[in-house]
Amino acid sequence: MRGNTLYIVVPCYNEEEVLPETARRLGDKLRTLMSAGKISPQSRVLFVNDGSKDKTWEVITRLHRENHLLCGADLSRNRGHQNALLAGLMTAKDWADMVISMDADLQDDVDAADAMVDKYLAGADIVYGVRSSRKTDTFFKRTTAEAFYRMMDLLGAETVFNHADYRLMSKRALEGLAQFKEVNLFLRGIVPMIGYPCDTVEYERGERFAGESKYPLKKMVSFALEGVTSLSTKPLRMITGLGFLVFFISLVMIVYNVVRWATGNTVAGWASLACSVWFIGGLILLSLGVIGEYLGKLYLESKGRPRFLIRQVLDGEAGEDRE
Ligand code: UDP
Ligand code: MG
Repeated sequence: MRGNTLYIVVPCYNEEEVLPETARRLGDKLRTLMSAGKISPQSRVLFVNDGSKDKTWEVITRLHRENHLLCGADLSRNRGHQNALLAGLMTAKDWADMVISMDADLQDDVDAADAMVDKYLAGADIVYGVRSSRKTDTFFKRTTAEAFYRMMDLLGAETVFNHADYRLMSKRALEGLAQFKEVNLFLRGIVPMIGYPCDTVEYERGERFAGESKYPLKKMVSFALEGVTSLSTKPLRMITGLGFLVFFISLVMIVYNVVRWATGNTVAGWASLACSVWFIGGLILLSLGVIGEYLGKLYLESKGRPRFLIRQVLDGEAGEDRE
């Protein structure tokens, strides 16, 4: 039987304006879930301060003093959203049976947590929060975000469509995650690799409660690049494809030029030059592609990802299934 201690992990970067309200709502949520008997009295909210420049950590310390359900962890410096989140998850996994990760700005609907806990209790290890619409996003954010998911798909990085980092993970899913040692971290792509039974919960994503987005365009672009390059080596393979294409074009040109020569229509010197440019170009791209293939393998090896995680073992001695 799995335990039912819940931790809600919230990465915070310069969030002093929203934190008191976030803390109030999350504290209330924990209390209602506790009195409904769904989660244990040891459940907590864990705020991770990601090296904020404002009073975020002071606010967290004060909140912790006022309410024992709220705790905090302070990173040594700003490490970015994904790393702050990982720090929180890895801290909470030792105490919790399930962890929900959520942004500090209350864009993620707190009430969807109930359904997530229900699905955990019904046996799911990972429950993805999926946004049912993007009505409240600006046109710019919506189109860029959707283009981002499409591009990820095209480049071979599997992600859950319209799922950000609002999700529940069980203890064993977190222990699986702990075995992914990579430094280039893109949680959204790694979590689906863990496996185990998973489920989704739909929710409406609202607007930021206060303050402004901590993801300016520059950070979004580098986030997207990080996502693709940390999950997939397809861009390297594309070089090979391009090489084949150019090589093929050079062959077509050679045939074309021979035909023109046979029919007596050649311009002196042009044919041999044009053919060799394409031929050599194709050859270079192909060789680069071959190097890329090996580089990609090397890159994936160097991550040292776990090759498997065992869901269940049946053995004669224990008499019952061990999870
Ligand atoms: N965040 C963080 N470190 C950073 C940037 C952001 O911990 O360097 C946190 C931020 O406090 C928030 C979450 O990541 O809880 C998502 O950021 P935000 O809401 O600004 O992103 P958006 O919703 O605009 O994409
Ligand atoms: Mg936000």
